[in-house]
Amino acid sequence: MNKIPTIVDATRKHNDVEVERKRIRAVRNLDVLIQLTNDSEKSSSNKSPSSQLCQILSIDVGCVATGYSHLDRAPCCVAIVNDRCEIIFNSLIKPDKPVVSDLLPFSGVRTAELRDAPSFDEVLEKVHSFFTPTTLIVGQSVMSDIEWMKLEQGVHYNSLIELDDEFTTFDPKYGIHEAYVLLNIDLNAVGGHVAKNDAKASIKLYNEYLKDKNQSKLGQAQNALLKAPTKIPLFRQFSGSYEGVCLSAFNRGYCRCGQPLISELHKQTNEKKRRNSNDRKEEGLSTSIHKKMKVLNKKSQS
Ligand SMILES: [Zn+2]
Repeated sequence: MNKIPTIVDATRKHNDVEVERKRIRAVRNLDVLIQLTNDSEKSSSNKSPSSQLCQILSIDVGCVATGYSHLDRAPCCVAIVNDRCEIIFNSLIKPDKPVVSDLLPFSGVRTAELRDAPSFDEVLEKVHSFFTPTTLIVGQSVMSDIEWMKLEQGVHYNSLIELDDEFTTFDPKYGIHEAYVLLNIDLNAVGGHVAKNDAKASIKLYNEYLKDKNQSKLGQAQNALLKAPTKIPLFRQFSGSYEGVCLSAFNRGYCRCGQPLISELHKQTNEKKRRNSNDRKEEGLSTSIHKKMKVLNKKSQS
């Protein structure tokens, strides 16, 4: 068993085996990128250099609270940044439920700004128009952004690079820490996790440390992360709650609402999937119900 501190730090939620598994997956993702790039170069040798590459995008979604538990969230903003660090899409999103807190220090968005924002469906359509089946998505805690924006593998993207995994140093730290230490960007300094800044930081981290698959560069980055003092995450500074809203979806010690943590929900979902799959085999059913789970972006509590 791992030695788990009484208050489990969300930054330490991976055990070594999981970390190693993710690293292998991330390296495979890079291999996929190189393969895609090579294939693309072969088939389009007469095109300009930039069009020979598969598309690389970063996406980041900010959320407001629609209730007081850490699961009550709705997306309030989204930004997409290309591999040249250009913001190609940036929009507010009008939540479909009343907002109990804009979580300003985390979202960077004020409730009043959302009044005239486009609806989720309108934004979703635009977001989807930027993604292709060959897109490589780079991001920090990127799975939650992908789930919020209903991006599907094979339709909107080919593969992912999860920067949190890439920079995992066996003492995992937050994406903002990576940006702060490696790029000298303080994502909290602008008064919140503005989606476009987070997405830009992801691309910068990717371009700087991962693009050329230079292991020594990545090793240096990991060492720098290990040596640098960790800033106290925002959710701790607020002792797990902001305007009465629980901020901790990964850390039972800071959870103020008692709802299942994201890791527990994932476990339940996997168990349910397995059961459903067995049931379908037995009953010969071909239909399945995919119940989408709300995932709170880890960054929104850091
Ligand atoms: Zn909670």
